[in-house]
Amino acid sequence: MSARPADHRPAPGPGEFIAAPSDPQDERIDVGVNIVGAGPAGLAAAVRLGQLLQDRPELAERLGDVPVAVLEKGKTAGAHLLSGAVINPYSLRLLFPGMSVSEMPFFGLVKAEAVYYLTRKRAIRIPTPPMMVNDGNYIASLAHVGRWLAERAEELGVTVVPETAATKLLVSGGRVVGVRTGDKGRGRDGKELGNFEPGTDVTARATILAEGTLGHLSLAATEHFGLRTQPQTWALGVKEVWEVARPLDRIVHTMGWPLRGGRKYREFGGSFLYPMGEGMVSIGLVVGLDYADASVSVHDLLQELKMHPFVRRILDGGKRLAWGAKTIPEGGLQAVPSRLSFPGGMIVGDAAGLVNVPALKGVHYAMRSGMLAAETACAAVSPGQTAWTPGSLDAYDDAVRASFIWQDLKRVRNMRPAFANGFLAGSTLAGAAAATFGSFPPKDLPTEDDGEVPVFVGDRDRSYPAPDGALTFDKLSSVYLSGNKTRDDAPNHIRVRTDVPREVAEAWVRMCPAQVYEIAGGGASAGAATVEVTPSNCVQCGAITAKGGRLTPPEGGSGPEYSLL
Ligand SMILES: Cc1cc2nc3c(=O)[nH]c(=O)nc-3n(C[C@H](O)[C@H](O)[C@H](O)COP(=O)(O)OP(=O)(O)OC[C@H]3O[C@@H](n4cnc5c(N)ncnc54)[C@H](O)[C@@H]3O)c2cc1C
Ligand code: SF4
Repeated sequence: MSARPADHRPAPGPGEFIAAPSDPQDERIDVGVNIVGAGPAGLAAAVRLGQLLQDRPELAERLGDVPVAVLEKGKTAGAHLLSGAVINPYSLRLLFPGMSVSEMPFFGLVKAEAVYYLTRKRAIRIPTPPMMVNDGNYIASLAHVGRWLAERAEELGVTVVPETAATKLLVSGGRVVGVRTGDKGRGRDGKELGNFEPGTDVTARATILAEGTLGHLSLAATEHFGLRTQPQTWALGVKEVWEVARPLDRIVHTMGWPLRGGRKYREFGGSFLYPMGEGMVSIGLVVGLDYADASVSVHDLLQELKMHPFVRRILDGGKRLAWGAKTIPEGGLQAVPSRLSFPGGMIVGDAAGLVNVPALKGVHYAMRSGMLAAETACAAVSPGQTAWTPGSLDAYDDAVRASFIWQDLKRVRNMRPAFANGFLAGSTLAGAAAATFGSFPPKDLPTEDDGEVPVFVGDRDRSYPAPDGALTFDKLSSVYLSGNKTRDDAPNHIRVRTDVPREVAEAWVRMCPAQVYEIAGGGASAGAATVEVTPSNCVQCGAITAKGGRLTPPEGGSGPEYSLL
């Protein structure tokens, strides 16, 4: 028996995600350019705007008291950022010309690298595929990079507003005129508590959506303006940072075990181990969310991976310091929206799907797209222009298409979709695509909505290790380590149907790295199941949106507080 999670996706209520401004004119907060999301894309846009406005003080004056604002739902900039991260420094160099890399928040240059194919007991070194070579790249914690970029933006006069979730796109007269921020201080039943603060309409001359993977407003804008081409697909990454007894002298990527190569399982992904200076190592496992076996749990697969002799040797004698989870857009070029601009705004970074999947790189594309959007926004808010004059934001689409982002994504566009047919067929086709610089196969391979892949209840969970609290851990202690501070009595921000086929219910229970879902009564017999939801555990990874539900932004300031991820 199998069932498609997408068949149970709840539709948004009228006005739930997109609405007209509702505050009286004099109660709205008006800013020049409003950026939603303080990730590398949004903060690079903010820094670039700050630089441009420093050279044009008359324009900064025209944009009012707050020429550039960045709204961030996390407790601080960086609190919701999680990445590998091996970063290509190209965009940082463009953004800060003349700055030495020694001033940037990196742990160090990649000195050596190795790729392994894992079987249950063995690690077989294989040549590094050309698109995975990391010469000249640097190792970082993206949470650090986010905090550092926010400081650079603030030095340039940008207003960074943390603990503020943008929950609705404000559309009036066919154009985006701003966003509405979420209420704070409501109880689980939606009633106002003593500390209630209503959300606000934040209107802007231009809005840049930099929400990252599975961005709530970016998805709403893509639907509203009819920008979707092929379906976007996602992977879920679960990551830990370890203090280690011995330094790791290279970055390591693995493929193969603990994923299964069989076509019926559709398991695609791999792991990374990156040294963070002498004393720490990050380890993560990334798995495509188009897998078919509902018993797959990326968190538990990561725990199993750590028991492999090759990985265990690296972590032996160490201590887990941090844990987190986040999705990555994997649809590649064919799933990028047909346009990245719409009347009044633009979409940048992961929210636009600008990720090179075989290279596991998105940071420098996110930053470059943010910078290009900033330059377009600056021109569009100049005297005599508006961001909704037809054609005024075309320059952003043109610039992205003419940049290295497009060139890189074009070359690798068929590699990820090739793996829908299993590991062997996928690696053969991906190898051909790499050897021909993307010319073969000549056509764009289709992508498939992760939620439309039918799921069945298999037995992958049989070999998940029991948590020992030293090397392997359960989900709840991991959520605790993420610093998650969501109130237990906060309103439910997860939209799912709670009566669904057993296959879908099992898939959510296993998939969610934060143990948000449980099946009522402890287990499900064949047929239907009732799902119980504990939204306060949620670390906002986004996976539920890919697989049949919808993550909406919870109260600003809630969720994890990543500082090393
Ligand atoms: C496990 C993993 C490993 C990776 N490894 C690498 C790597 O080694 N190298 C590399 O280059 N890339 C890597 N990537 C990809 C890279 O992290 C992303 O491409 C990059 O972070 C995208 O930047 P962004 O600014 O678009 O989005 P994000 O980094 O996701 O930032 C978006 C920000 O917007 C905020 N936000 C979202 N919605 C709202 C809202 N409605 N209101 C207010 N705030 C909001 C979020 O809280 C977040 O702070 C990895 C990703 C993962 C998950
Ligand atoms: S409930 Fe939250 S943590 Fe769990 S899968 Fe959904 S978004 Fe991720």
